[in-house]
Order: sequence, then structure tokens, then C-alpha cells
Amino acid sequence: MKKLICALGAAVLLITGCSQTKEPYVRHTFAFDTYITISIYEHDGEYTTGEICDGAASMLAELDDTLSVKKEQSVISKINSGEQSQIDASIYYMLKNCVDLCELTDGAFDITLGNISEMWGFGEEALQKPDFDKLKDYAGKQNYKNIEFDDGSLSMKLKSGDFSLDLGAAAKGYALDMLNGYLVNAGVTSASVDLGGSIMTIGSYNGENWTVSVTSDETNSTAGTLSVGETYIATSNGFNRFVEYDGVKYHHIIDPDTAFPAQSDVKSVTVITANGLIADALSTAFYVMGSEKTEAFIKEYPIADYIIFTTDGQTVISSGIADSYESAQTADE
Ligand code: AMP
Ligand code: MG
Repeated sequence: MKKLICALGAAVLLITGCSQTKEPYVRHTFAFDTYITISIYEHDGEYTTGEICDGAASMLAELDDTLSVKKEQSVISKINSGEQSQIDASIYYMLKNCVDLCELTDGAFDITLGNISEMWGFGEEALQKPDFDKLKDYAGKQNYKNIEFDDGSLSMKLKSGDFSLDLGAAAKGYALDMLNGYLVNAGVTSASVDLGGSIMTIGSYNGENWTVSVTSDETNSTAGTLSVGETYIATSNGFNRFVEYDGVKYHHIIDPDTAFPAQSDVKSVTVITANGLIADALSTAFYVMGSEKTEAFIKEYPIADYIIFTTDGQTVISSGIADSYESAQTADE
């Protein structure tokens, strides 16, 4: 029995298994500029699945309102205005974790590229070609070193107006972390969430592993399947989001060293690890780093597994998941 739960984005949950099929309670919602599917298979406790999903949808909408760079009232917009901003402890420590990840990846993941993304105009309707010379002035700044945190008052401030925060590479992962805490507290013991291609699983599917289909290109067809337990999966690629100027496509993942779209050998990268924020941040960082640097990084910091589809058609898989991944080509043979 094979059932497609949701086919949006770069990783897709396929529920497979020999045992009896289980029908989940499914809720669709929209936040973070993307479609979200919450599927609850098992839960106990006093709340109905409907009530649990009402709470989950409100929580996601609230997190989106807090973290969006495009919403004037968001916490991120307040920080970007240059004010010394006192913020909620969970957001404060999430931002500190982000800065740690910026440092760990030597700035390949950088939450201070807001100005650069804005100049490129990703997601804007009235596009204006950026001034390439001006963009170069923003390159290589590592401005995550220029965020001032005050642990005493849980407040923070950007040290200059030359940069701004953009959590586009991490917010979905963090939202999945928060959602996990909420769902588990509400008594959920088996569930999957697809947040625009970023995936979280809770527990098991009927005592078996979850099967996740991984895509490698714009056709969104299955390149292979991964068998996973309770985990988080994030994917970064350049083909789903881009702008076009003078007939040239520029994708949305910026190499902070150049302020231009990253030109690594990665076509698409999927990261699997036990934390949503880390999975999300690393998928973006690995796209920027390319396959060789990613391999060296994971050798030094074995904190995640990954599948990289390279621009020359190779598939590079970290050793931790080599046995859990089945290529669609192999399966067809
Ligand atoms: P993702 O799809 O998770 O890889 O995130 C990409 C989004 O994060 C982009 O649309 C930008 O908003 C932002 N971004 C682009 N490049 C970077 C980068 N090198 N580090 C952190 N955020 C980035
Ligand atoms: Mg990311």
C-alpha cells in the first residue's frame, strides 16, 4: 500500500508499509508563504485531533507573524529598524543559535543577508534589477558578528544599518521544532508535518519507518526514497525560487562571499537531523559550500546526514544514511 500524502516541495512523505494502512487526521494550512500539511496518526490525552490542529495552525500563523521580514509588525522587522529590541526568550535564543550556526559554517549560512535578498527582489512583484556594483559592496561582510546580544535584558541590536536580518533559511525549521513540542505536549505520538517540503516526523508509522521521497530537480519527480524514524528533513535548491533580469535567472540562495547566487556544484541538497533549525540552516549552508566542503564539514562536525544531487548528475550520500536511501533508478531495475 502506497499513499502520497503531499506532493509539494522538495521532499515528500510517502506512507508505505506491509502492515494495515492507517488513515490520519489531516489538516491543511498556510503560513511562511507555503502550504502546510499536518497528519496525525495517533494521539492520546484530552484533546481531539481537530482541537490539536486548530492550536497548531494558530501557532504557525503566530510564528510567521513574528519571524517574517516582510511583515512590518514582526519582531524581525523591529530588530531591522535598528532599535534595541527586547524579545521573547525563545526567539532570542533561537537567534543566538542561528548566529552559532553562522559561525560553525564560517558564514555560508548567514542570517544577515536581508539587504542583499531585498536588492535582488526575491518574492517581489515590481522587480528592479539590482545595482551589481553596489551588491559587491555588501559581499563578504560576515555581519552576523555585528549583532549585539544582551543576555541580561534579552534584548538585541544590529550594530549598523548596513545589513538586516532575513530568517528565510531557518524559520521553517524552527517552526517545526516549536510545533514538535506543541504536538507532543498535546498527546500526539505519531504524526508527520510537511511544511512546504520541510518535513518533521513524530514517532513511527504503525510501528514502521516513514518513507520520504526526495526530489532532485524542477520536475519534482522522485529521485529516491529515504526510510526514517523520528526526524527533521530540510531541502535547499535553486530552481524553485528565482528572479529573472535581462533573460538571466538568478536563484535565491546567496553566497555571502559574493552577494550573488551561490555557484556551487549542488543542484539540490537534503539534510536529515534531529533538530529542525539545524536541518534548515545546514541545507542552505551546504548548498553554498558545495559537495566537497560539505563532506569535510560533516567529517569535522558529524551533526547531520545529507543527500546532495550535483549539477553533473552525481548523488553524494553521507555514510549515516547510505543504507536508508534507495535510488529510484535502483528500485526500477
Ligand atoms: P532555504 O530555502 O532554506 O535554503 O532558504 C533560502 C532563503 O534564505 C532565501 O530565500 C533567503 O531568504 C535566505 N538566504 C539566502 N541565502 C542565504 C544564506 N547563504 N544564508 C542564510 N540565508 C540565506
Ligand atoms: Mg534552509
